[in-house]
Parts: sequence; C-alpha cells; structure tokens
Amino acid sequence: MKPASFEYHRPASIGEALTLLAEYGAQAKLISGGQSLIPMMNMRLASPAHLIDINDLSELAGVKDRGDLIEIGTLTRHHEVASSSLTAVHCPLVSQAASTIGHYAIRQRGTLGGSLAHADPAAQMALVACTLDARITLARHSGERELASADFFEGAMTTAVRPDEMIVRVGFPKQQPGERSSFKLFSRRHGDFAVIAVAMVLGMKDGKVNKLHIGVGGASPVPVRLDAALEDFLDKTPDAPWVVSVGLAAYHAIAPEESTRIPAIYRKELTQSLVMHALNDLLAEQGMEAA
Ligand SMILES: Cc1cc2nc3c(=O)[nH]c(=O)nc-3n(C[C@H](O)[C@H](O)[C@H](O)COP(=O)(O)OP(=O)(O)OC[C@H]3O[C@@H](n4cnc5c(N)ncnc54)[C@H](O)[C@@H]3O)c2cc1C
Repeated sequence: MKPASFEYHRPASIGEALTLLAEYGAQAKLISGGQSLIPMMNMRLASPAHLIDINDLSELAGVKDRGDLIEIGTLTRHHEVASSSLTAVHCPLVSQAASTIGHYAIRQRGTLGGSLAHADPAAQMALVACTLDARITLARHSGERELASADFFEGAMTTAVRPDEMIVRVGFPKQQPGERSSFKLFSRRHGDFAVIAVAMVLGMKDGKVNKLHIGVGGASPVPVRLDAALEDFLDKTPDAPWVVSVGLAAYHAIAPEESTRIPAIYRKELTQSLVMHALNDLLAEQGMEAA
C-alpha cells in the first residue's frame, strides 16, 4: 500500500521546522522515526499534505544530566534511551522500559518524542512518563511551554500537542536514594505491544515504604496511576501479606474496557500478577520477604 501524495520538507533548523508548522498547522505532520506514522499513512489512516522530517535536527537528540532531571531530546532513539549510562544510573525505569519496545529495528529508528506524540495506550514511554511525572516541553514559533505528563495525554492517541507545536525534550526526575524501580509487561508475542504493562517505583526509608508509584499501561485509553488505591500501603514494613494486598488493590483499581479478544478480567488479573512480580523482585533485591 502507498500513502496519499504529500509535499516533503526537510528543515535544517528547529526554527525552520517551527516556521513550517506555523504555516501548515493541521495539514502537516512531523516525522521522526516513522515507525508509527508511515504505516498509518500507508493505510491511509493519516494523509498529511505536508510531511516535515526532523531527522536532520541533531540538537533534538541526546541524553543530558540537568541536576535533578535527566533530559532526553525528542529525537533520541529508543535504543539510545535504553543504552544510555545516564538513564541507567539515574532513571533505570526509563532504560528498562525502552529496552522492551518492539524489535531491534524499531528501537533503532523509533524516537521518544514520536512515541509520546503517537500516544498508544500500551506504549512503554507514555507509561513511564506518567509513572515518573515527567515534564514534556513543547515548542512553537512564538515560544515554549512545559506540560506535566498528567496533562499531556488526553485519550487514546490524543495528546495536548497543538497542530503548530513540536515536542522538543522530556525531563525525567532522577531516582532518589532508597528508591528502586521495576518494569514488567505481558505481550502475546515477543515485540508486540503489551496487553498490560506495569511501571513501579518503590521507596524505602528505615525499613518502611515511603513511596509507591505504580502506573499501568494497556488497561485504559491513557496510562493510569494507582495513587489513590495505594495510600494505605505507605509507611508500612512490606512483607508477603503486604505484597498480596497491594496486588489485590491494583486488581480493583483498574477498570479495563470489555473486549471480545481480551476480556477485562484477564487484564485485571495480569495487572495483579505483574504488580506482585515487580514488588517481589524489588523486595528480594533488598533481602526482604516476598509473597
Ligand atoms: C511492528 C511494530 C511494533 C511496535 N511495538 C511497539 C511497542 O511494543 N511499544 C511501543 O511503545 N511502541 C511500539 N511501536 C511503535 C514505536 O515505538 C514507534 O517508534 C513510536 O510509536 C513512534 O515513534 P516514531 O519516532 O517512529 O514516530 P513517527 O512514526 O515518526 O511519528 C508518530 C507520530 O508522532 C508525531 N511526532 C513525531 N515526532 C514528533 C515531535 N517531535 N513532536 C510532535 N509530534 C511528533 C508524528 O507526526 C506522528 O503523528 C512499534 C512499531 C512497530 C512498527
């Protein structure tokens, strides 16, 4: 299948890209890795009149240490996110998640910004951004604005990015002393999108849990954080019954849509199971009792 005809633009600077976006707005699409957009164009699910290719804008790629944050450029490929020593040391959840995206070829081309803008409900990077409270910076011709990930994702494949805006970078808060993270997913085949994915940060101080962030992807149009369901589990010494109770709380906290191919209860049970696996791994790493 072939896409509808379009005019191809290859800007040499961010300013030029933003000028093109300002000029063509909703008639244009940015292309970064092309791993989602090209199939959509081939299937005529997207027919932009103007394609703005940002692959020459090398200043939009790379991983940088910015004090409290690890800042990742929009054009950074999944494989670079997964293999960066900065993300491995300071945001291990981001590295773990990026390494599970699709297949080798997809990770070589697909980008962080493209994945966030595409906003697939089961996408790893969207889930990690929500779980870690990432800050997403958008640029347009007249300036920049920064959004919390909670305000960025509006629905399945729908974000707050306006037609004349471009994601330029994403800031992920660094993991703090006493915190550990885990990323678990279940997919039907290796490299497929997750049926359910769970991202977790567990913080411990003086043997008690002082932070528990759990995000779930694949259960709803946008990744969900289970904060409200987890309040009772803070300030406790985690043991096997605690792990079982958190798993059950996660089961009850999500409300996946019913589907003939994947029943809602299956996604709920998967969530419960992945949450317990993640907790068990994190507690075992600290020599603590697991369920
Ligand atoms: C077989 C296959 C398996 C896959 N498996 C997974 C998986 O398991 N998990 C997963 O998360 N993803 C998966 N993907 C998708 C992959 O991660 C893509 O890389 C990602 O969804 C889109 O990134 P991209 O850079 O290729 O974006 P593109 O395809 O270039 O663009 C996607 C969308 O983002 C917009 N866009 C691109 N860059 C910007 C920007 N800077 N600012 C604003 N908008 C922008 C485009 O206009 C377009 O609407 C898979 C893809 C394939 C083909």
